[in-house]
Amino acid sequence: MKTNYRRCISCRKVGAKESFWRIVRVYLSREVQLEKGMGRSAYICRSAECLRVARQKNKLGRSLKATVPEHIYQSLSLADVLTILPRARRDPRSGS
Ligand SMILES: [Zn+2]
Repeated sequence: MKTNYRRCISCRKVGAKESFWRIVRVYLSREVQLEKGMGRSAYICRSAECLRVARQKNKLGRSLKATVPEHIYQSLSLADVLTILPRARRDPRSGS
């Protein structure tokens, strides 16, 4: 399978598409949403630091040429927490 490379809008790091969050400005409705949809997209590392920088400098908004609603940032902060938690629970030595 071919790997798709993307660049983080915050730190400019290049990596596999799967390692980033995708934020999409939907083609028809011009609404900004996460992960799904066709339209102009921006990619950002799954890290709280890149999220913070992107938010502070409005990098997302500028990249998408749209206003990024507050709930998008909130979902991403939450997603950051959610991706950390399952990893901590997946310790093979625990629970047996
Ligand atoms: Zn980054």
